[in-house]
Amino acid sequence: MTTKTQRCLDCGQPVQGRSDKKFCDPQCRSHYYNHHHITTASIVVINKILKKNRGILKQLNPTGKTMVRQTEVLKMGFNQNYHTHIYTTKNGTNYHFCYDQGFLDLGTGQLLLVVQEIEAKKEQDLKRKKPSS
Ligand SMILES: [Zn+2]
Repeated sequence: MTTKTQRCLDCGQPVQGRSDKKFCDPQCRSHYYNHHHITTASIVVINKILKKNRGILKQLNPTGKTMVRQTEVLKMGFNQNYHTHIYTTKNGTNYHFCYDQGFLDLGTGQLLLVVQEIEAKKEQDLKRKKPSS
């Protein structure tokens, strides 16, 4: 028989009763699972939007830098509200990125699409260049 006190996974209060009990009452139990479920669902939904955004940008930008009409991008299902990070250039321009695919809203109904070089790839390129020089 174990006497170790379990704490409720939801509210953190010590749980009375069986040692494998994880919640103090059904309310805590349902609160915990509802909250956890909602959080997980949101992540799944947002990841889907981000991946779709990235796919659209990549498809429209095979050369690594191109200009597209904003309406064209939106028509394909692009959601401009979702991005993974912002890259600010030296002159203060904010590029929004969905993973490695970025866009700049030019404010003229057009988006400038760019691709961010991954740091690791840059290092590889530098190593590759060294012997030839
Ligand atoms: Zn509780």
